[in-house]
Amino acid sequence: MRKISLIGGGQCGLLLGFALLDKGYSVTLYTDRSAEQVLNSRIPSTAFMFDSSLAVERELGLNFWEDLVPYGEGMHVDFRGPDGSIGLTVQGRLGELQGQALDQRTKFSRWLQEFPRRGGKLVVQAVSVADLEKIAAESDLTLVAAGKGQINAFFARDDERSEHLAPPRNLAAMLLTGPKMLGDRPWQRVPFRPLRFNFIAGAGEYFSLPFYTHTRGECRSFLFEAIPGGPLDRFQDAKDGAEMLEIARQVIAELAPDDLHHLDGAELTDADAWLKGAFVPTVRKPVGRLPSGKSVMAIGDTAVLNDPIAGQGSNNAARMVRHLVSSIVARGNGAFDEAWMNDTFDTFWNESAMYTTAFTNALLKPPGAPVMEVLGAASVNPPVADAFMRCFDNPRNYWPWIADLDEARRFVAERVELCAA
Ligand SMILES: Cc1cc2nc3c(=O)[nH]c(=O)nc-3n(C[C@H](O)[C@H](O)[C@H](O)COP(=O)(O)OP(=O)(O)OC[C@H]3O[C@@H](n4cnc5c(N)ncnc54)[C@H](O)[C@@H]3O)c2cc1C
Repeated sequence: MRKISLIGGGQCGLLLGFALLDKGYSVTLYTDRSAEQVLNSRIPSTAFMFDSSLAVERELGLNFWEDLVPYGEGMHVDFRGPDGSIGLTVQGRLGELQGQALDQRTKFSRWLQEFPRRGGKLVVQAVSVADLEKIAAESDLTLVAAGKGQINAFFARDDERSEHLAPPRNLAAMLLTGPKMLGDRPWQRVPFRPLRFNFIAGAGEYFSLPFYTHTRGECRSFLFEAIPGGPLDRFQDAKDGAEMLEIARQVIAELAPDDLHHLDGAELTDADAWLKGAFVPTVRKPVGRLPSGKSVMAIGDTAVLNDPIAGQGSNNAARMVRHLVSSIVARGNGAFDEAWMNDTFDTFWNESAMYTTAFTNALLKPPGAPVMEVLGAASVNPPVADAFMRCFDNPRNYWPWIADLDEARRFVAERVELCAA
């Protein structure tokens, strides 16, 4: 039985671990915190996953919360001026591509308990580069899925594929519950349960998603993406979630006032339901060579770390897991050498991750002419809006039109025709 070691018990490492166990590999997963520690930690993320990504979890029987987590059925987006006035509204449904957002504390702690039950070996250990040497010596393949962990520095930045040298946004997120944000139709203007997006010129963005946490059940996540130094950038001195909620009330009152009443009576789901910080989105070289000459491979955020503005990191991890499993299985008894690692990653980059990264980076800038063309049409044409939102499930579908005005016009015309037919 081929032996595969994984570093990191998050979205990518755990999901890949289960998928490889399912294919009959011997899998050891090293992660720096126990299930209990993960459950009682601060939230690491507010990840929403679309249908194609959830399908990977469903196929492996890992969707323990399927009937508990409220579905996000579509997006309701306001594009606002610097004073908060709404310039353009786009509302689109995801249809069968609807997704779910589940507290990663809830998910990963449960998955960590499940992993040994399915035959995996779990080692709770913060892995160092020196440890990697020992692990790699005992394994046919060693994959590092350490998220934003410090061990990432072992993998060189890919300068050609990385666009950022500094954090494009300062982030602040929390989980809230309250009488005016839950249920099927929490936004009166929206005939479905929305992912609520606000793009505020010169300030940044704020997102509120239907969510589920073990501490309170149904709730909503709030993620503020502040342009550094701009009017939304007020969260970084907050000492706790309660302070963060007060700041949220102030910025929403100023920059998205029609949303403010949703915070009436709102409170944090629990004392740990908040995070703040910033990071530099980075694409890394997939292969790290150890002093012994053995190679290990970066996957998940360790390989492709994007800003959360497009909600793609966990989705990218799920897509990467699908790709890795088929590449590992196809290798048969062949060596998992550097050539295989580079080829496996480059294929995934070219087929998927480069589009995810380019789409994410595009959202961090003012929209170009093709996007404005489609958004303008989407604001008055529901089929165009639906088609735009459905591309979030697989950002590759934004091409070719996202970069070409003629293609954008064709994209709109085809949807409008479909509607008229
Ligand atoms: C605020 C915010 C909002 C987000 N929203 C979305 C969204 O809506 N949709 C979406 O798809 N994505 C979203 N993401 C991104 C998503 O959470 C990540 O991309 C995803 O969790 C990456 O999975 P991963 O397995 O690569 O890393 P992680 O899930 O971060 O897991 C890494 C694991 O490795 C462990 N680890 C680190 N170093 C070591 C070490 N040396 N030894 C052992 N273990 C180690 C960590 O403790 C952790 O358990 C968001 C992120 C943030 C910050």
